[in-house]
Amino acid sequence: MPQYKVAIVGAGPAGYFAAMALQNLQTEELKFSIDMIERLPTPWGLVRSGVAPDHPKIKTVSKVFEKVANEPNFRLFANVELGSDLAIVQLKEKYDAVVIATGMALGKKLGIPGEDLLGSMSAATFVPWYNSHPDFKDENIDLSCDTAVVIGAGNVAMDVARILALEPSELDPTDTADHAIDAFKKSSVRAVVVSARRGPEHAAFTSPELRDLPKLEHTNVVINQADIEAAIARAGDTPEKDVKSNLDAMLLISEKEATHHERTMKFQFLATPTEIKGNGRVEEVVFQKTGSDETFSIKCGLVITAIGYEAASLEGIPYEKGKVVNSDGRVSESLYVVGWAKRGPSGVIGTNKSDAAEVMKLLVEDLGTPKNLGDITDVITHNRVVTQMHWQAINMAEVAAGEPLGKPRRKAVDREELLKLGRL
Ligand SMILES: Cc1cc2nc3c(=O)[nH]c(=O)nc-3n(C[C@H](O)[C@H](O)[C@H](O)COP(=O)(O)OP(=O)(O)OC[C@H]3O[C@@H](n4cnc5c(N)ncnc54)[C@H](O)[C@@H]3O)c2cc1C
Repeated sequence: MPQYKVAIVGAGPAGYFAAMALQNLQTEELKFSIDMIERLPTPWGLVRSGVAPDHPKIKTVSKVFEKVANEPNFRLFANVELGSDLAIVQLKEKYDAVVIATGMALGKKLGIPGEDLLGSMSAATFVPWYNSHPDFKDENIDLSCDTAVVIGAGNVAMDVARILALEPSELDPTDTADHAIDAFKKSSVRAVVVSARRGPEHAAFTSPELRDLPKLEHTNVVINQADIEAAIARAGDTPEKDVKSNLDAMLLISEKEATHHERTMKFQFLATPTEIKGNGRVEEVVFQKTGSDETFSIKCGLVITAIGYEAASLEGIPYEKGKVVNSDGRVSESLYVVGWAKRGPSGVIGTNKSDAAEVMKLLVEDLGTPKNLGDITDVITHNRVVTQMHWQAINMAEVAAGEPLGKPRRKAVDREELLKLGRL
Protein backbone atom coordinates (compact mmCIF):
# COMPACT_ATOMS: atom_id res chain seq x y z
CA MET A 1 0.00 0.00 0.00
CA PRO A 2 1.58 3.37 -0.96
CA GLN A 3 2.38 5.59 2.02
CA TYR A 4 3.22 9.16 1.08
CA LYS A 5 5.09 11.63 3.26
CA VAL A 6 3.79 15.19 3.21
CA ALA A 7 5.42 18.15 4.99
CA ILE A 8 3.21 21.10 5.84
CA VAL A 9 5.10 24.27 6.77
CA GLY A 10 3.13 26.57 9.08
CA ALA A 11 0.76 25.50 11.87
CA GLY A 12 -1.97 28.05 11.25
CA PRO A 13 -5.54 27.35 10.11
CA ALA A 14 -4.48 26.70 6.51
CA GLY A 15 -1.86 24.15 7.58
CA TYR A 16 -4.29 22.26 9.82
CA PHE A 17 -7.06 22.33 7.22
CA ALA A 18 -4.59 20.96 4.64
CA ALA A 19 -3.68 18.14 7.05
CA MET A 20 -7.36 17.48 7.70
CA ALA A 21 -8.07 17.31 3.97
CA LEU A 22 -5.26 14.78 3.50
CA GLN A 23 -6.59 12.72 6.39
CA ASN A 24 -10.03 12.75 4.77
CA LEU A 25 -8.60 11.76 1.37
CA GLN A 26 -7.03 8.59 2.76
CA THR A 27 -8.37 5.26 1.54
CA GLU A 28 -7.39 1.64 2.01
CA GLU A 29 -5.02 2.13 -0.94
CA LEU A 30 -3.75 5.63 -0.17
CA LYS A 31 -2.11 6.61 3.12
CA PHE A 32 -0.31 9.76 4.25
CA SER A 33 2.08 10.52 7.03
CA ILE A 34 1.97 14.22 7.76
CA ASP A 35 4.72 16.29 9.40
CA MET A 36 3.82 19.86 10.35
CA ILE A 37 6.66 22.35 10.79
CA GLU A 38 6.17 25.58 12.75
CA ARG A 39 8.70 28.30 13.56
CA LEU A 40 7.16 29.24 16.94
CA PRO A 41 7.13 26.92 19.96
CA THR A 42 3.30 27.08 19.72
CA PRO A 43 0.92 26.14 16.90
CA TRP A 44 -2.43 27.64 15.71
CA GLY A 45 -0.98 30.65 13.82
CA LEU A 46 -3.19 33.75 13.91
CA VAL A 47 -5.83 31.94 15.95
CA ARG A 48 -3.36 32.40 18.80
CA SER A 49 -1.55 35.57 17.77
CA GLY A 50 -4.11 37.45 15.63
CA VAL A 51 -7.74 36.82 16.61
CA ALA A 52 -8.85 39.40 19.16
CA PRO A 53 -8.71 38.17 22.77
CA ASP A 54 -12.19 39.56 23.51
CA HIS A 55 -13.60 37.18 20.84
CA PRO A 56 -12.80 33.84 22.51
CA LYS A 57 -15.50 31.87 20.68
CA ILE A 58 -13.60 32.23 17.40
CA LYS A 59 -10.60 30.52 18.97
CA THR A 60 -12.60 27.36 19.70
CA VAL A 61 -11.67 26.28 16.14
CA SER A 62 -8.41 25.18 17.83
CA LYS A 63 -10.33 22.09 19.02
CA VAL A 64 -10.60 21.05 15.37
CA PHE A 65 -6.85 21.58 14.94
CA GLU A 66 -6.09 19.42 17.99
CA LYS A 67 -8.31 16.64 16.65
CA VAL A 68 -6.30 16.66 13.41
CA ALA A 69 -3.05 16.70 15.41
CA ASN A 70 -4.04 13.73 17.53
CA GLU A 71 -4.52 11.43 14.56
CA PRO A 72 -1.79 8.74 14.45
CA ASN A 73 -0.48 9.88 11.04
CA PHE A 74 0.32 13.44 12.25
CA ARG A 75 3.52 14.76 13.85
CA LEU A 76 4.21 18.32 15.01
CA PHE A 77 7.69 19.83 14.70
CA ALA A 78 7.35 23.26 16.28
CA ASN A 79 10.22 25.59 17.16
CA VAL A 80 11.62 24.63 13.74
CA GLU A 81 11.86 27.36 11.10
CA LEU A 82 11.94 26.92 7.37
CA GLY A 83 14.74 29.18 6.23
CA SER A 84 16.98 29.00 9.31
CA ASP A 85 16.65 25.43 10.65
CA LEU A 86 15.75 23.84 7.32
CA ALA A 87 15.88 24.66 3.63
CA ILE A 88 13.10 24.02 1.17
CA VAL A 89 15.42 21.79 -0.95
CA GLN A 90 15.95 19.52 2.06
CA LEU A 91 12.21 19.14 2.53
CA LYS A 92 11.67 18.47 -1.17
CA GLU A 93 14.31 15.73 -1.05
CA LYS A 94 12.67 13.95 1.87
CA TYR A 95 8.96 14.38 1.20
CA ASP A 96 6.64 13.36 -1.61
CA ALA A 97 5.00 16.77 -1.35
CA VAL A 98 5.60 19.99 0.57
CA VAL A 99 2.78 22.40 1.42
CA ILE A 100 3.62 26.00 2.27
CA ALA A 101 1.15 27.42 4.82
CA THR A 102 3.28 30.19 6.28
CA GLY A 103 0.67 32.96 6.08
CA MET A 104 1.61 36.63 5.91
CA ALA A 105 3.15 38.48 8.80
CA LEU A 106 4.37 41.80 7.40
CA GLY A 107 2.12 44.84 7.50
CA LYS A 108 1.65 46.71 4.20
CA LYS A 109 2.98 50.25 4.19
CA LEU A 110 1.00 53.35 3.27
CA GLY A 111 4.02 54.90 1.56
CA ILE A 112 3.37 58.42 2.91
CA PRO A 113 5.81 60.81 4.62
CA GLY A 114 6.12 60.39 8.39
CA GLU A 115 5.08 56.75 8.41
CA ASP A 116 8.26 55.76 10.23
CA LEU A 117 7.94 58.33 13.02
CA LEU A 118 7.93 57.05 16.57
CA GLY A 119 4.33 56.31 17.54
CA SER A 120 3.39 55.06 14.06
CA MET A 121 3.25 51.31 13.56
CA SER A 122 1.47 48.56 11.74
CA ALA A 123 -1.23 46.33 13.18
CA ALA A 124 1.26 43.57 12.29
CA THR A 125 3.28 44.80 15.28
CA PHE A 126 0.52 45.98 17.62
CA VAL A 127 -1.70 42.87 17.40
CA PRO A 128 0.98 40.23 18.12
CA TRP A 129 2.23 42.46 20.97
CA TYR A 130 -1.12 42.28 22.79
CA ASN A 131 -1.53 38.61 21.85
CA SER A 132 1.74 37.40 23.47
CA HIS A 133 3.66 36.57 20.28
CA PRO A 134 7.21 36.00 21.62
CA ASP A 135 8.82 38.05 18.82
CA PHE A 136 6.85 41.17 19.84
CA LYS A 137 6.93 41.02 23.64
CA ASP A 138 9.53 43.79 23.92
CA GLU A 139 7.82 46.30 21.61
CA ASN A 140 7.66 49.69 23.25
CA ILE A 141 4.06 50.79 22.75
CA ASP A 142 3.54 54.30 24.09
CA LEU A 143 -0.09 54.89 25.05
CA SER A 144 0.47 58.23 26.81
CA CYS A 145 -1.50 60.24 24.23
CA ASP A 146 -5.25 60.94 24.35
CA THR A 147 -6.07 60.20 20.68
CA ALA A 148 -5.11 57.30 18.45
CA VAL A 149 -5.83 56.97 14.72
CA VAL A 150 -6.29 53.55 13.18
CA ILE A 151 -6.01 53.58 9.39
CA GLY A 152 -7.94 50.87 7.56
CA ALA A 153 -11.47 49.65 6.92
CA GLY A 154 -11.32 45.93 7.66
CA ASN A 155 -11.81 43.72 10.67
CA VAL A 156 -8.18 44.04 11.76
CA ALA A 157 -8.59 47.83 11.97
CA MET A 158 -11.79 47.32 13.91
CA ASP A 159 -10.13 44.85 16.32
CA VAL A 160 -7.25 47.24 16.95
CA ALA A 161 -9.56 50.22 17.53
CA ARG A 162 -11.87 48.24 19.81
CA ILE A 163 -8.99 46.88 21.91
CA LEU A 164 -7.63 50.43 22.30
CA ALA A 165 -11.04 51.89 23.16
CA LEU A 166 -12.24 49.20 25.56
CA GLU A 167 -12.39 49.70 29.29
CA PRO A 168 -9.21 47.64 29.98
CA SER A 169 -10.69 45.66 32.87
CA GLU A 170 -12.89 44.03 30.19
CA LEU A 171 -9.70 42.29 29.08
CA ASP A 172 -9.03 40.76 32.52
CA PRO A 173 -11.02 37.59 31.79
CA THR A 174 -9.32 37.13 28.39
CA ASP A 175 -5.99 35.68 27.26
CA THR A 176 -4.56 39.13 26.40
CA ALA A 177 -0.85 39.36 27.31
CA ASP A 178 -0.34 40.54 30.91
CA HIS A 179 2.10 43.23 29.70
CA ALA A 180 -0.58 44.58 27.34
CA ILE A 181 -3.34 44.61 29.97
CA ASP A 182 -0.98 46.55 32.28
CA ALA A 183 -0.21 49.02 29.49
CA PHE A 184 -3.91 49.47 28.59
CA LYS A 185 -4.74 50.13 32.26
CA LYS A 186 -2.15 52.92 32.29
CA SER A 187 -3.17 54.16 28.84
CA SER A 188 -4.26 57.79 28.38
CA VAL A 189 -5.98 57.00 25.06
CA ARG A 190 -9.63 58.06 25.25
CA ALA A 191 -10.50 58.71 21.60
CA VAL A 192 -9.83 56.26 18.79
CA VAL A 193 -10.58 57.29 15.21
CA VAL A 194 -10.89 54.57 12.56
CA SER A 195 -10.23 56.20 9.20
CA ALA A 196 -11.30 54.68 5.89
CA ARG A 197 -10.18 55.94 2.49
CA ARG A 198 -13.49 55.17 0.80
CA GLY A 199 -17.14 55.39 1.81
CA PRO A 200 -18.98 53.02 4.18
CA GLU A 201 -20.35 51.02 1.22
CA HIS A 202 -16.79 49.93 0.35
CA ALA A 203 -15.64 49.06 3.86
CA ALA A 204 -14.34 45.51 4.32
CA PHE A 205 -15.67 45.17 7.88
CA THR A 206 -18.01 42.21 8.35
CA SER A 207 -21.45 42.81 9.77
CA PRO A 208 -21.31 40.47 12.82
CA GLU A 209 -18.29 42.47 14.05
CA LEU A 210 -20.12 45.76 13.41
CA ARG A 211 -23.23 44.49 15.17
CA ASP A 212 -21.13 43.65 18.23
CA LEU A 213 -19.89 47.23 18.65
CA PRO A 214 -22.99 48.68 20.38
CA LYS A 215 -22.56 45.95 23.02
CA LEU A 216 -19.44 47.71 24.32
CA GLU A 217 -20.48 48.78 27.78
CA HIS A 218 -17.97 51.54 28.43
CA THR A 219 -17.30 53.04 25.00
CA ASN A 220 -19.20 55.51 22.83
CA VAL A 221 -19.27 54.21 19.28
CA VAL A 222 -19.83 57.06 16.85
CA ILE A 223 -20.77 56.88 13.20
CA ASN A 224 -22.12 59.92 11.39
CA GLN A 225 -25.67 59.13 10.26
CA ALA A 226 -25.41 61.39 7.18
CA ASP A 227 -22.35 59.42 5.99
CA ILE A 228 -24.32 56.18 6.08
CA GLU A 229 -27.42 57.67 4.47
CA ALA A 230 -25.26 59.02 1.63
CA ALA A 231 -23.62 55.60 1.25
CA ILE A 232 -27.02 53.89 1.14
CA ALA A 233 -28.05 56.29 -1.63
CA ARG A 234 -24.82 55.63 -3.55
CA ALA A 235 -25.22 51.85 -3.17
CA GLY A 236 -28.57 52.05 -5.01
CA ASP A 237 -31.64 49.82 -4.81
CA THR A 238 -29.91 46.47 -5.14
CA PRO A 239 -26.67 46.51 -3.18
CA GLU A 240 -24.81 43.23 -2.68
CA LYS A 241 -26.00 41.27 0.35
CA ASP A 242 -22.81 41.88 2.38
CA VAL A 243 -22.83 45.59 1.58
CA LYS A 244 -26.48 45.92 2.60
CA SER A 245 -25.88 44.03 5.80
CA ASN A 246 -22.88 46.23 6.67
CA LEU A 247 -24.76 49.44 5.90
CA ASP A 248 -27.73 48.28 7.99
CA ALA A 249 -25.40 47.55 10.92
CA MET A 250 -23.68 50.93 10.56
CA LEU A 251 -26.99 52.78 10.25
CA LEU A 252 -28.16 51.15 13.47
CA ILE A 253 -25.05 52.36 15.28
CA SER A 254 -25.39 55.87 13.82
CA GLU A 255 -29.05 56.11 14.91
CA LYS A 256 -28.38 54.96 18.45
CA GLU A 257 -28.81 57.55 21.13
CA ALA A 258 -25.44 59.03 22.05
CA THR A 259 -23.77 57.56 25.12
CA HIS A 260 -21.39 59.56 27.28
CA HIS A 261 -18.59 57.34 28.40
CA GLU A 262 -15.02 58.42 28.90
CA ARG A 263 -13.88 56.42 25.87
CA THR A 264 -14.92 56.92 22.25
CA MET A 265 -14.40 54.97 19.05
CA LYS A 266 -15.32 57.02 15.99
CA PHE A 267 -15.45 56.15 12.28
CA GLN A 268 -14.16 58.65 9.75
CA PHE A 269 -14.99 57.77 6.14
CA LEU A 270 -13.67 59.21 2.86
CA ALA A 271 -10.37 60.16 4.46
CA THR A 272 -7.14 59.52 2.51
CA PRO A 273 -4.07 59.91 4.73
CA THR A 274 -1.41 61.99 2.97
CA GLU A 275 1.16 62.65 5.71
CA ILE A 276 1.95 61.84 9.31
CA LYS A 277 3.51 64.88 10.96
CA GLY A 278 5.50 65.31 14.14
CA ASN A 279 8.75 66.45 15.62
CA GLY A 280 10.51 63.15 16.26
CA ARG A 281 7.23 61.41 17.04
CA VAL A 282 3.65 61.39 15.77
CA GLU A 283 1.67 64.58 16.42
CA GLU A 284 -0.99 64.56 13.70
CA VAL A 285 -2.24 62.80 10.59
CA VAL A 286 -3.10 64.91 7.57
CA PHE A 287 -5.97 63.64 5.41
CA GLN A 288 -7.42 64.61 2.08
CA LYS A 289 -11.18 64.32 1.89
CA THR A 290 -11.37 61.54 -0.73
CA GLY A 291 -12.59 62.84 -4.08
CA SER A 292 -11.97 66.50 -3.23
CA ASP A 293 -9.06 68.91 -2.63
CA GLU A 294 -10.16 69.58 0.91
CA THR A 295 -7.70 68.59 3.63
CA PHE A 296 -8.05 68.22 7.37
CA SER A 297 -5.92 66.79 10.13
CA ILE A 298 -6.38 64.85 13.35
CA LYS A 299 -4.05 65.52 16.28
CA CYS A 300 -2.92 62.25 17.80
CA GLY A 301 0.05 60.54 19.40
CA LEU A 302 -0.44 57.03 18.02
CA VAL A 303 -1.12 55.82 14.48
CA ILE A 304 -1.76 52.19 13.68
CA THR A 305 -2.08 51.12 10.06
CA ALA A 306 -4.20 48.09 9.24
CA ILE A 307 -4.22 48.14 5.46
CA GLY A 308 -3.27 44.55 4.69
CA TYR A 309 -0.42 42.10 4.98
CA GLU A 310 2.26 40.57 2.80
CA ALA A 311 4.58 37.61 3.19
CA ALA A 312 8.30 37.77 3.87
CA SER A 313 10.17 35.87 1.13
CA LEU A 314 11.56 32.43 1.87
CA GLU A 315 14.48 31.16 -0.19
CA GLY A 316 13.56 28.67 -2.88
CA ILE A 317 9.94 29.85 -3.10
CA PRO A 318 8.83 32.31 -5.82
CA TYR A 319 7.01 35.43 -4.57
CA GLU A 320 5.22 38.25 -6.36
CA LYS A 321 3.51 41.18 -4.63
CA GLY A 322 3.93 39.54 -1.21
CA LYS A 323 2.23 36.26 -2.26
CA VAL A 324 3.64 32.91 -3.31
CA VAL A 325 3.39 32.58 -7.11
CA ASN A 326 1.01 29.69 -7.76
CA SER A 327 -1.59 28.27 -10.05
CA ASP A 328 -4.57 27.06 -8.00
CA GLY A 329 -2.12 26.24 -5.20
CA ARG A 330 0.50 24.46 -7.33
CA VAL A 331 3.89 26.22 -7.06
CA SER A 332 6.34 23.83 -8.74
CA GLU A 333 6.86 20.08 -8.85
CA SER A 334 5.70 18.60 -5.51
CA LEU A 335 5.41 22.09 -3.94
CA TYR A 336 2.03 23.57 -3.01
CA VAL A 337 0.72 26.61 -1.15
CA VAL A 338 -2.43 27.18 0.91
CA GLY A 339 -4.01 29.91 3.07
CA TRP A 340 -2.95 33.53 3.19
CA ALA A 341 0.44 32.77 1.58
CA LYS A 342 -1.56 31.59 -1.47
CA ARG A 343 -4.54 33.95 -1.60
CA GLY A 344 -3.45 37.02 0.28
CA PRO A 345 -4.91 38.35 3.53
CA SER A 346 -8.60 37.88 2.95
CA GLY A 347 -11.49 35.76 4.10
CA VAL A 348 -12.32 34.28 7.46
CA ILE A 349 -10.73 31.25 9.13
CA GLY A 350 -13.24 28.92 7.41
CA THR A 351 -12.20 30.20 3.96
CA ASN A 352 -8.91 28.37 4.47
CA LYS A 353 -10.75 25.06 4.87
CA SER A 354 -12.37 24.84 1.45
CA ASP A 355 -9.29 26.41 -0.13
CA ALA A 356 -6.88 23.87 1.40
CA ALA A 357 -9.20 20.97 0.50
CA GLU A 358 -9.12 22.00 -3.19
CA VAL A 359 -5.33 22.23 -3.22
CA MET A 360 -4.92 18.86 -1.47
CA LYS A 361 -7.08 17.25 -4.17
CA LEU A 362 -4.59 18.53 -6.78
CA LEU A 363 -1.69 17.29 -4.68
CA VAL A 364 -3.19 13.78 -4.66
CA GLU A 365 -3.74 13.91 -8.43
CA ASP A 366 -0.05 14.78 -8.93
CA LEU A 367 1.42 12.01 -6.73
CA GLY A 368 3.91 9.63 -8.34
CA THR A 369 5.56 6.71 -6.55
CA PRO A 370 6.51 7.26 -2.90
CA LYS A 371 10.09 8.38 -2.26
CA ASN A 372 10.94 6.79 1.07
CA LEU A 373 14.08 8.84 1.59
CA GLY A 374 13.84 9.57 5.30
CA ASP A 375 12.28 12.63 6.87
CA ILE A 376 12.83 15.83 8.78
CA THR A 377 14.40 14.09 11.78
CA ASP A 378 17.44 13.44 9.55
CA VAL A 379 18.03 17.16 9.03
CA ILE A 380 17.03 19.02 12.19
CA THR A 381 20.19 19.73 14.13
CA HIS A 382 18.81 21.16 17.41
CA ASN A 383 17.15 19.13 20.13
CA ARG A 384 14.47 21.57 21.23
CA VAL A 385 11.74 20.49 18.86
CA VAL A 386 8.26 21.02 20.29
CA THR A 387 6.35 17.87 19.40
CA GLN A 388 2.62 17.39 19.94
CA MET A 389 3.43 15.92 23.37
CA HIS A 390 5.48 18.98 24.39
CA TRP A 391 2.81 21.31 22.99
CA GLN A 392 0.14 19.52 25.02
CA ALA A 393 2.23 20.18 28.14
CA ILE A 394 2.48 23.90 27.23
CA ASN A 395 -1.22 24.06 26.43
CA MET A 396 -2.26 22.42 29.70
CA ALA A 397 0.10 24.60 31.75
CA GLU A 398 -1.27 27.79 30.15
CA VAL A 399 -4.89 26.74 30.69
CA ALA A 400 -4.14 25.77 34.32
CA ALA A 401 -2.40 29.13 34.93
CA GLY A 402 -5.44 30.97 33.56
CA GLU A 403 -8.04 29.08 35.57
CA PRO A 404 -7.66 30.79 38.99
CA LEU A 405 -7.69 34.16 37.19
CA GLY A 406 -10.90 33.38 35.28
CA LYS A 407 -9.04 33.43 31.94
CA PRO A 408 -9.25 30.78 29.22
CA ARG A 409 -5.45 30.63 29.45
CA ARG A 410 -2.55 32.72 30.62
CA LYS A 411 -0.14 32.73 27.72
CA ALA A 412 3.59 32.53 28.23
CA VAL A 413 5.26 35.26 26.18
CA ASP A 414 8.85 34.22 26.15
CA ARG A 415 10.31 31.46 23.98
CA GLU A 416 12.39 30.04 26.84
CA GLU A 417 9.40 30.15 29.18
CA LEU A 418 7.30 28.30 26.57
CA LEU A 419 9.99 25.66 26.08
CA LYS A 420 10.27 25.23 29.84
CA LEU A 421 6.50 24.68 30.08
CA GLY A 422 6.95 22.05 27.36
CA ARG A 423 9.67 20.47 29.55
CA LEU A 424 12.35 21.13 26.96
C1 LIG B 1 -5.38 40.56 13.54
C2 LIG B 1 -6.20 39.47 12.87
C3 LIG B 1 -7.42 39.11 13.38
C4 LIG B 1 -8.18 38.12 12.76
N1 LIG B 1 -9.39 37.80 13.30
C5 LIG B 1 -10.16 36.88 12.69
C6 LIG B 1 -11.43 36.53 13.23
O1 LIG B 1 -11.84 37.07 14.26
N2 LIG B 1 -12.17 35.60 12.58
C7 LIG B 1 -11.72 34.98 11.44
O2 LIG B 1 -12.42 34.12 10.87
N3 LIG B 1 -10.51 35.29 10.90
C8 LIG B 1 -9.73 36.21 11.51
N4 LIG B 1 -8.52 36.53 10.97
C9 LIG B 1 -8.07 35.84 9.73
C10 LIG B 1 -7.42 34.47 10.04
O3 LIG B 1 -6.57 34.61 11.15
C11 LIG B 1 -6.69 33.96 8.80
O4 LIG B 1 -7.64 33.68 7.79
C12 LIG B 1 -5.86 32.70 9.04
O5 LIG B 1 -5.12 32.75 10.22
C13 LIG B 1 -4.90 32.45 7.86
O6 LIG B 1 -4.33 31.21 8.06
P1 LIG B 1 -2.87 30.81 7.55
O7 LIG B 1 -2.67 29.43 8.09
O8 LIG B 1 -2.76 31.05 6.10
O9 LIG B 1 -1.85 31.84 8.25
P2 LIG B 1 -1.40 32.02 9.76
O10 LIG B 1 -2.54 31.89 10.69
O11 LIG B 1 -0.62 33.28 9.78
O12 LIG B 1 -0.39 30.80 10.05
C14 LIG B 1 0.88 30.74 9.47
C15 LIG B 1 1.81 29.97 10.40
O13 LIG B 1 3.05 29.74 9.73
C16 LIG B 1 4.11 29.94 10.63
N5 LIG B 1 5.32 30.26 9.86
C17 LIG B 1 5.59 31.41 9.18
N6 LIG B 1 6.80 31.35 8.60
C18 LIG B 1 7.31 30.13 8.89
C19 LIG B 1 8.55 29.48 8.59
N7 LIG B 1 9.49 30.08 7.85
N8 LIG B 1 8.77 28.22 9.07
C20 LIG B 1 7.81 27.60 9.84
N9 LIG B 1 6.64 28.19 10.17
C21 LIG B 1 6.38 29.43 9.70
C22 LIG B 1 3.62 31.10 11.48
O14 LIG B 1 4.35 31.19 12.71
C23 LIG B 1 2.16 30.72 11.68
O15 LIG B 1 1.97 29.89 12.80
C24 LIG B 1 -7.71 37.50 11.58
C25 LIG B 1 -6.47 37.88 11.05
C26 LIG B 1 -5.71 38.86 11.68
C27 LIG B 1 -4.39 39.27 11.11
